[in-house]
Amino acid sequence: MLNLKLRAKNLVKKYGTSDPYYIARELKFEIVFCDMPYKINGMWRRILRRKYIFIDENLNEWQKKAVLCHELGHFLCHKGYSSYNIAGRTFFQNTRKENEANAFSAELMSYSSDIDKQYIIHFLELGHKK
Ligand SMILES: [Zn+2]
Repeated sequence: MLNLKLRAKNLVKKYGTSDPYYIARELKFEIVFCDMPYKINGMWRRILRRKYIFIDENLNEWQKKAVLCHELGHFLCHKGYSSYNIAGRTFFQNTRKENEANAFSAELMSYSSDIDKQYIIHFLELGHKK
């Protein structure tokens, strides 16, 4: 298991903020809120030369933030693994990488919210299984 707590800490130090929207912009991501098919919480994709993070617009604010942190976790920790965060479509997924992205999200979220880490991880995991 990667040291995700340390990775989140270094990221916050590097950018001087734990705001995932700010960090995503610094990493040249375009963030798109949309009605996602198949109960997907979010995903990131490279399209042509641009990078996009898609987030389900129907989620509430902290959930959107958690999904964004999850996708940033994939980008920063899992080179070459472009993820769908899809409910019930586990064949696209690598469980270890998903768990790492969830843990990374919970760590990064802990800088700006009081929401329990396990609660965040539970929400992200449910996104896969629902
Ligand atoms: Zn994922």
